[in-house]
Amino acid sequence: MQDDTTAYGERSIAYFSMEVALDPGMPTYSGGLGILAGDTIKAAADMKLPMVAVTLIHRKGYLNQKIDNEGWQTEEFADWAVDHFAQEIPVSVPITIEGRLVVVRAWVYEVKGTGGYVVPVYLLDTDIDVNNQWDRTITDHLYGGDQHYRLCQEVVLGSGGVRLLRTLGYNNLERFHMNEGHSSLLALELLDAEAGRAGRKVFTHQEVELVRKKCVFTTHTPVRSGHDQFPLDLVKAVLGRAEIFDMHEVFCCEGVLNMTYLALNLSHYVNGVAKRHGEISQLMFARYRIDSITNGVHVGRWASEFFAGLFDEHIPGWREDNFDLRYALKIPKEVIWQAHEKAKAQLIEYVNTTSNADFDASVFTIGFARRAATYKRADLLFADVERLKTIVNNVGPLQIVFAGKAHPQDVQGKEVIKRIIAAKTQLKDKVQVVYLPNYGIELAKLLIAGVDVWLNTPLPPLEASGTSGMKAALNGVPSLSVLDGWWIEGCIEGVTGWSIGNDEKTGISAEGTDGRDADSLYDKLEHVVMPTFYEQRNAFTEIMRHAIALNGSFFTAQRMLQQYVQKAYFI
Ligand SMILES: *Cc1c(COP(=O)(O)O)cnc(C)c1O
Repeated sequence: MQDDTTAYGERSIAYFSMEVALDPGMPTYSGGLGILAGDTIKAAADMKLPMVAVTLIHRKGYLNQKIDNEGWQTEEFADWAVDHFAQEIPVSVPITIEGRLVVVRAWVYEVKGTGGYVVPVYLLDTDIDVNNQWDRTITDHLYGGDQHYRLCQEVVLGSGGVRLLRTLGYNNLERFHMNEGHSSLLALELLDAEAGRAGRKVFTHQEVELVRKKCVFTTHTPVRSGHDQFPLDLVKAVLGRAEIFDMHEVFCCEGVLNMTYLALNLSHYVNGVAKRHGEISQLMFARYRIDSITNGVHVGRWASEFFAGLFDEHIPGWREDNFDLRYALKIPKEVIWQAHEKAKAQLIEYVNTTSNADFDASVFTIGFARRAATYKRADLLFADVERLKTIVNNVGPLQIVFAGKAHPQDVQGKEVIKRIIAAKTQLKDKVQVVYLPNYGIELAKLLIAGVDVWLNTPLPPLEASGTSGMKAALNGVPSLSVLDGWWIEGCIEGVTGWSIGNDEKTGISAEGTDGRDADSLYDKLEHVVMPTFYEQRNAFTEIMRHAIALNGSFFTAQRMLQQYVQKAYFI
């Protein structure tokens, strides 16, 4: 191991996340939250931020997806070879669950930055002989099992994580960043440590203030099911203690432990993940002060080989200082188009060899890929298939590529996939549609760079940020999207891409109905986006260039972390 990682005492920021996407071979993430965590850690390593990260190992990885002929998703967990990617460390820590001793060990995965600096990520693991059979499975399934299973996982992450860092010798941690509420129990562990020093179990107000100074909390969704709540009886049984819950400064209320409120109560800085999401969260949690830091993506990870090559040639230094991507403005348009053609050819090759489709590189191609959750409305484009056929007759051919996994227990999400497959059959002779299985890091890379337009149709205000459109922008692919999340900040109409469903007269995004948003989507496609693509290639390429220069340069994990440094880490 490098000196950087053995100098434990120099690390001051601990970043906790239930999921982290580190390597395409490690299925330790489900979607945007994990990708963001991975991008954050990579950017921290580039910036030589004194960070260390903690997550769970998720041995039975998330998720091999199969889609049958009727469009129904089935899934299996994805086994992976832990020791192929991570190194076991010779340290383990005890925690208590339901009065039992559970031993937690860890593996380390080293994220190396552009300058060689390493941020270690510790993956916690309860699969050891000394634990009983059930306890050995606690760190197996990301978002698996029932509430009891989830709570046990959160005890491992929060308490186990803090104890591990302490045991390893990270003695100067000044900030604990909770990436979503799953890790809030870390704050309780810090409180216990403070009270324990004074020989008490119950905390004082001063101790709460002390812990608050150390904690930072990022909330990631306005969707209710994204905020874990556990019945107090369950919590008391699992944590094996009852006395602390009377302290309303820390815990509230009405028979449940809400992990979001626990994090809110114990953090000095709280943020949403885009401007609009900050405002929505402020309305949801009126008693707290909620700021916002808009998400960003790691440019080295998400620039396709073709665009990375262009940037290396025209903007050397872009990986170290991402703002330099602004100077994409000086890259000749033809060269940008050629790089796009190569990325598109790569995607189309993949589509045609893995499915029985016959995609054509000269045809306008729309991409849509995200978790198959209902609020994302993946099938909005098929609200009126006849209208879609008319557009193709009037303007030119169209092909569409979809991808995305539904959570195994999300029947409605699975039904969205089914409806897309049904529409594919209806459109067969007019519009080619494919649904590619197993959306993950690798497939995302192909898609975001290889399509002509990146489509997003969430129901506002439920898309907290969204990051796939940022990855697309970096590769010169403009978004066509409902004004929600990051796109409210990123959209300059006709310059960086196009909006769906905003009221042209007031300029205010309507929290529209499906019908109204679908109409707007069809209108934009027929009268603006597709004509520009087919008849004004020069203008289309100019929009691509602006997507890179204005959005690719700003919506980066590096800028995001600089804001965390200024607002949350070092103040
Ligand atoms: C970027 C990414 C996401 C998140 O994208 P959204 O726009 O937030 O939906 C999810 N999954 C994968 C594999 C990604 O690469």
